[in-house]
Amino acid sequence: MDRVSEGTRMKMTGSIRNLFSGAIMATTFAGGAGAQQPTAHHWAIVLHGGAGIIERASMNPATEAAYRASLAEATQAGAQVLDRGGTSLDAVEAAIRILEDDPLFNAGRGADFAADGRNELDAAIMDGSNMKAGAVGDVTRSRHPISLARAVMEKSPHVFLVGQGADEFSVYAGLEQVDPSYFFTERRWQSLVKQLKKEGLPIPPRPAGAPPPPAEPVTEIEPPDAHKYGTVGVVALDRAGNLAAGTSTGGTQAKRWGRVGDSPIIGAGTYASNQSCAVSATGTGEYFIRLTVARTVCALVQYKGMKLQAAADEVVHQELTGLDGDGGVIAIAPDGEMVWSFNTPGMYRARLAEGGKLEVGIYNDEP
Ligand code: ASP
Repeated sequence: MDRVSEGTRMKMTGSIRNLFSGAIMATTFAGGAGAQQPTAHHWAIVLHGGAGIIERASMNPATEAAYRASLAEATQAGAQVLDRGGTSLDAVEAAIRILEDDPLFNAGRGADFAADGRNELDAAIMDGSNMKAGAVGDVTRSRHPISLARAVMEKSPHVFLVGQGADEFSVYAGLEQVDPSYFFTERRWQSLVKQLKKEGLPIPPRPAGAPPPPAEPVTEIEPPDAHKYGTVGVVALDRAGNLAAGTSTGGTQAKRWGRVGDSPIIGAGTYASNQSCAVSATGTGEYFIRLTVARTVCALVQYKGMKLQAAADEVVHQELTGLDGDGGVIAIAPDGEMVWSFNTPGMYRARLAEGGKLEVGIYNDEP
């Protein structure tokens, strides 16, 4: 499924003015040839908003439209950075910040709750041009965990900070702080309560600072074990030919004991190298960690010379499916090949290359 035609590097044949018009533009495919040219790269960006049991039959049309609009908005924000010559790193951060502010997604505001009733956020970013990376786990006060991950990369000698220390570093780095209740959404809270009841676990008190419970029942609560993830991730190629990847998440619903998923683990949920590809993953993180999914996709490209789509499909449909893992990846190659691959009924996703048409998809029967 979801096989992208090989060599999606598009030559721009229309004007930039048409870029976001939504009109179908004539494009020609240049294949992988010239992928290592140092200049005159055409930019490209791919984004995901989580994978899981996301099916047409159970999707309310207004919610579906809202997801599509959000995916489009974030993609276009990243594309604008790339189009004016910005770096892939800046594009990844810009697009993820928008998704972190959007309560539809399980990242930043709208994050899933841990079993103790807290929002504990994970994020990572990697610069494929120099293999620098930054990551944070279980942070609770940064409005934009992706920016905190970037600060770890750029302003600390370390790669991965967790918990209280990471929260303290966020203040030191001058990032925007919020009260933990900022991340609260009624929908996620009610989903947590339902999940904990099902598992026979204690229900924590409603978080301090959360709004009072609504008089009307909340609709669209996820059933327990819904396996609808809403993690967000972005991979991008800029005009200088540099790749970057980033991922941000609240983790899995009702996670316990300081659990950290794959998203902030470099090589598992996030990876970027100009030598091979940039990848962001989503799904049940435990499988992605054990399979080092993101790095494995790139290693197949780098050492086996596989095309990116084939490499992503092999890891997702052979390795991940073989372990009964669920989820998917987005990826981008130095030649601009834009890829997604997932083994779930749906994955929120979008992509856009310079001169191309914005594509937004949710279900597995869409291209
Ligand atoms: N991969 C994330 C985690 O396990 C969850 C997700 O993708 O939604 O933390």
